[in-house]
Amino acid sequence: MQSEVYFLPFKGKRDGFLKGIGRMLDLLGIEKAVRPGDLCAVKVHFGEEGNTTFLRPLYVRPIVERVRALGAKPFLTDTNTLYKGSRSDAPSHIETALRHGFGFEVTGAPVIIADGLKGNDTVMVRIEGEVYGEVEVARAIFEAHSMVVVSHFKGHDLAGFGGALKNLGMGCTGRRGKLIQHSEVSPKVNRRRCTGCGRCEGECPSGAIALKEKKAFIDEGRCTGCGQCIVMCPHKAIDIRWKRDPEIFQKKMIEHALGALKGKEGKVLFLNFLLYVTPLCDCWSRSDPPIVPDIGILGSRDPVALDQASVDLVNAQPGISSLEGLGPGRDKFGAVHKDIDWSFQLEHAERLGLGSRSYRLLELS
Ligand code: SF4
Ligand code: SF4
Repeated sequence: MQSEVYFLPFKGKRDGFLKGIGRMLDLLGIEKAVRPGDLCAVKVHFGEEGNTTFLRPLYVRPIVERVRALGAKPFLTDTNTLYKGSRSDAPSHIETALRHGFGFEVTGAPVIIADGLKGNDTVMVRIEGEVYGEVEVARAIFEAHSMVVVSHFKGHDLAGFGGALKNLGMGCTGRRGKLIQHSEVSPKVNRRRCTGCGRCEGECPSGAIALKEKKAFIDEGRCTGCGQCIVMCPHKAIDIRWKRDPEIFQKKMIEHALGALKGKEGKVLFLNFLLYVTPLCDCWSRSDPPIVPDIGILGSRDPVALDQASVDLVNAQPGISSLEGLGPGRDKFGAVHKDIDWSFQLEHAERLGLGSRSYRLLELS
């Protein structure tokens, strides 16, 4: 069955463009998804420090206003990162959000970090996946009554592209959920960097770390993969054992997306912003030029149809900057991330019933 995907083209009229976001939410049936009194999560990505291509907070305001007008309580949210950076715990994450313009005066909503102070405030949710029978979901996402998932659509070095599905799968889980998507085993200690300060020993909730010969040692049998030590080490001496199997990664990501939506059937709307479509995601502390011209905003109640329509529209554009000369109809993300087949995420999502790859594009004038 075809799902409806609404398309608001970017025509350079920014004021009309902002008003169009509210109109799109109405067409998506926001008054049915978001009820008076709801705690409504507006899931965004605040951008890593050093990145300047994350979604502008200006675009979030019409969403917040529409949610508030329905008598619900909107809050902006994201989860802490697995790696050590400017968003690896709630205080630094909120500071980054505010430095990037996501203050109340711009967006009209407070910022709440969904997986708590240290990335471990989560709930295990049962699912029927192929890899997992249960996955970790950030508590504030789990407890929210409704959600608007707002995604900057761009490239990603393991998923090929990152859109609504990635925002759900990676962006709505805790640190443990992120670690198991990226890796099969416990983190490893870089003995050269380790100073033997012992901080990780005290932070490990499983008692899996001990100092041996003045260096940290991780007992893999006891490690539960919470990821806490990775961000707690002041010398960046504990690393993720990155496992670069894009197919497995995408399957795990999709199964976490399934968990994030469990219990919210009919209560979640999705918006993808196809503006400044960069080759890499906003977790990178750098910015690259866009690979296609600005396209517009897509909205749907179906995250699979939405991401499929988004990638199709990107591929219909002429390549620019690093993709100059790659004409309409050619695979833009395949050209940037040559070994990654982005279709795995869409196939697996459709197989698990998250939505349909078949869609009808309805353009807003
Ligand atoms: S916190 Fe880092 S530097 Fe200190 S003992 Fe642990 S691994 Fe080594
Ligand atoms: S990942 Fe968590 S459980 Fe494993 S060693 Fe690090 S802190 Fe301990």
